[in-house]
Amino acid sequence: MSNQNLDGNPKNKDRMGVFVCDCGDNISSILDVESLTETAKVLPNVVCAEHASYWCSTDGRERILDMIRSEELQKVVVAGCSRRTHNRLFQKTIGQANLNAEMLGIVNIREGCAYPHQAEPDMATARAKDQIEMESAYMSALNISTSIEVAITQKSLVIGGGMAGMTAALELADNGVPVMLISHLTKQALSLHDTFGVIIVATGMPDEETARLAKLLRLKQDTKGHFAEMRIRLRPERYMERGIYVCGSVHQPCTIKQAQFQAYSAASRALKHLRKKSVMVGGARAVVDPMKCNGCSDCFEVCPFDAVTMIERPAQFSKDSVHIEIQTPDAKKQSLSVIDPILCTGCGNCVSVCPVGAATMRGWSDEQLEDQMHIALRDTSDNKDSLRILIFACEWSGYAAMELAGRQKLSYPSNVRAIRLDCTGRLQPGLILKAFEMGADGVMILGCMPKLCHYERGNEQAAAIYNQVESLVGLLGISPVRLKLAWTPPDDAPAWVELVTKFVEGVAEITGVAK
Ligand code: SF4
Ligand code: SF4
Repeated sequence: MSNQNLDGNPKNKDRMGVFVCDCGDNISSILDVESLTETAKVLPNVVCAEHASYWCSTDGRERILDMIRSEELQKVVVAGCSRRTHNRLFQKTIGQANLNAEMLGIVNIREGCAYPHQAEPDMATARAKDQIEMESAYMSALNISTSIEVAITQKSLVIGGGMAGMTAALELADNGVPVMLISHLTKQALSLHDTFGVIIVATGMPDEETARLAKLLRLKQDTKGHFAEMRIRLRPERYMERGIYVCGSVHQPCTIKQAQFQAYSAASRALKHLRKKSVMVGGARAVVDPMKCNGCSDCFEVCPFDAVTMIERPAQFSKDSVHIEIQTPDAKKQSLSVIDPILCTGCGNCVSVCPVGAATMRGWSDEQLEDQMHIALRDTSDNKDSLRILIFACEWSGYAAMELAGRQKLSYPSNVRAIRLDCTGRLQPGLILKAFEMGADGVMILGCMPKLCHYERGNEQAAAIYNQVESLVGLLGISPVRLKLAWTPPDDAPAWVELVTKFVEGVAEITGVAK
């Protein structure tokens, strides 16, 4: 778990600072921020920890910058309020010191610990200590090179020769960008992924060609065949990150004037994208170890974003700059899974189904999850006589509802520890069983409501995993009462509190351990 050198100092790439926020006295009137700070100072890889009134203030952010520079920090953890509201602000701050946005961890000790457990300040502080340590462990195991830079080819393709297509093509050409204008899908378009930095789709009202184009460009169609906008909350930049823009009536029925307006808008966004020269693709995403992949294609089947391609396994390939020859004749016949880093949203469905551990998540590895589970479930003086409840919470539903419950100052048992997941579909049966092995009295998996998964089918995947584990826990003599999968709307805090409280009461009854 630790990345310390033999002399006890963290390696340069692992140096981390922890900044505990008093939030005026919103946090410090309930949690013992002094003790949180002192505890943080001795965590693996942490080289400095401080608390202050408001880290989000101008002075607070200046201080963080000073500490990054003077302590040569490579990673920063802010323990304060929600990443939903403060992620951008602190990412901008660490960016001023040339730290990648992913090198920021935020742990919500206000809505996550202080507000819901204000009647039990000691237990609230104990939970905050654990949640800070869990975030630090997650950050410690985060590979510094999670992001990759993808160059943007300075050429454009416009598909569609109507008013919208021609307007967009002229606008791009007037700005000095080489344009290939094609009226409909041709073989030339088959190699477009690598050849063109931007693509504008303006093919007019949907027809049978539109479905082919959708498949090729991996765009989603709505029920009438129009190219739908991605849901705003699911990485709205996804199409743009890929340099694909849609305008005219293939997007929605419109007049000629509206089509022209949309074409100018699409061209202007395309130009902005081209000027960046390259895009950083970061965040959690899946990778496949070609040495382990057996070509079963399970990952291909479950990927909701068509990010997986099965290719014929090459006889040789390079891995980590090492040239590897595949010598087994049979292996040459196998196919191999390859994941497109731009299309991959990091939902983790492929990781959860891969039977041989070849597909792994960069940025949300099993190691990062297990380190957090270990901290949440270990024996401490605070939890020796009480239940240990672990919640795997989807960022968009279970975790959001938990934060809302805190904001509304609703109370629920303080012995829960929450692990935030991008998607519950990323879990694996082995991880859930390991939680019981590590000492969990109860495990909850809280994901998005049916048909509202932010990663299309992640909650269905979570249900499949749950069904597997449910039958296994029975065989292991673990009561099914101790495992719960539930769909939680993000905006119903009272329902979330009732669900968690009832679960904890049920586990207390079955195990005979005090709540
Ligand atoms: S599920 Fe795993 S083993 Fe099967 S093709 Fe995908 S990466 Fe390879
Ligand atoms: S993480 Fe999700 S989007 Fe990425 S390859 Fe796996 S299943 Fe597809």
